Amino acid sequence: MARIGENTVNWIYMASSQLNPPQRFLFGPGPSQVDPRVYAAMAKPIVGHLDPYFFQINMEAREVLKRLYGTANDFTLAISATGSGGMETCVANFVEPGAKFAVLANGFFADRMAEMGKRQGGAVVRFDKAWGESYSDAEAREFILREKPQVVGFVHAETSTGVFQSPKAICAAAREVGALVIADCVTSLGAMPIELDAAGIDIAYSCSQKGLSCPPGLSPITVSPRAMAWLKARVSPTPTWYFDLKLLAEYFDGAHRYHHTAPISMFYALREALSTIEDEGIEQRFERHRSNHLAFVAAAEALGLEMNVAAPADRLWTLNTVKVPAGVDDLKVRQYLMAKHGIEIGGGFGPLAGKIFRIGLMGVLSTEPDVLFLLSAFEEALRENGYVPPSAPGAGALAAQRVYSSLVPA
Ligand SMILES: *Cc1c(COP(=O)(O)O)cnc(C)c1O
Repeated sequence: MARIGENTVNWIYMASSQLNPPQRFLFGPGPSQVDPRVYAAMAKPIVGHLDPYFFQINMEAREVLKRLYGTANDFTLAISATGSGGMETCVANFVEPGAKFAVLANGFFADRMAEMGKRQGGAVVRFDKAWGESYSDAEAREFILREKPQVVGFVHAETSTGVFQSPKAICAAAREVGALVIADCVTSLGAMPIELDAAGIDIAYSCSQKGLSCPPGLSPITVSPRAMAWLKARVSPTPTWYFDLKLLAEYFDGAHRYHHTAPISMFYALREALSTIEDEGIEQRFERHRSNHLAFVAAAEALGLEMNVAAPADRLWTLNTVKVPAGVDDLKVRQYLMAKHGIEIGGGFGPLAGKIFRIGLMGVLSTEPDVLFLLSAFEEALRENGYVPPSAPGAGALAAQRVYSSLVPA
């Protein structure tokens, strides 16, 4: 029999060992900050993965995802995987062994897509451009018409460089040669317009933890009826079982046949994150991201910093890349921000290692007060690490405020 006091001791032990993560401000390339309403949803009791309630909240989420993608595709849903799992799903189902897969390769995630194509047995052809550049309409068209691939892959929002890629010319050329188009919308969904149907994108994937401000773990994908018809006619089985879209369709739609045990709490989180987006209004949300991005750029320039992406129209609103000024150690700046303010920002990698900062302004933290907080901390971290801005202290925040007041509707 337990002695009096034993339970008390255990209880104290349990209480002190309770998980207590540090408070961070996630201004990096992802994951982004999570809304408290989303955390609350994750603490709700789970139902089974075949419970009608699960499919009901999933339908609610799917409707909002369609609007964020700008599509009427019925097959728009989140799969149980991170963004890379969504990428693998799209590549494995649509790039058959031997098929020509043309990849517009201007960054880290385009490389990953090309690598996946190779592992699926695709004949990968690449159009390499420097990290930080986008493709003009003419360049994309010439490449696709010359290669005549079965599938084209590109990254709509390249998080490794901060580059936005306009999809229209790519999709039009792909249509001319009868190719399907896969778009990586991981860092655009939920924060920038995609207009998937108008652009002509057939297949796209994203993730829960960037523009949607939800924890990582789900990958919203969308497939056009044209691509679905192609998949139905595909004879060779998709080499991966877990990511086989025909099997996933039988679980999420149709007979709701058991495929895997969906992570219910993550679906609660996604449903709630999408519901906060609806409450705000999708157009308002895009506009909020645009104005905070513009304010950030003005501030960076006032601090004498240079954006990594030269043309303003090629810049992502969600992920701002700034060149590290000469003589400054980017790691020291990032460590200072973390130690002093609990702020996470990203550094560059690959050819951009040590050369850029990657600053995410996504979802919950893309607001005027948060941008101003970040700017003052960033300026301080740069000054503490040997950078002397050409302007008076606080010039960055002032420039940002000027943008905010100019954007206020008259
Ligand atoms: C983050 C990211 C991915 C990978 O997503 P994970 O959730 O980390 O697997 C793919 N593409 C782009 C553009 C990304 O930013």
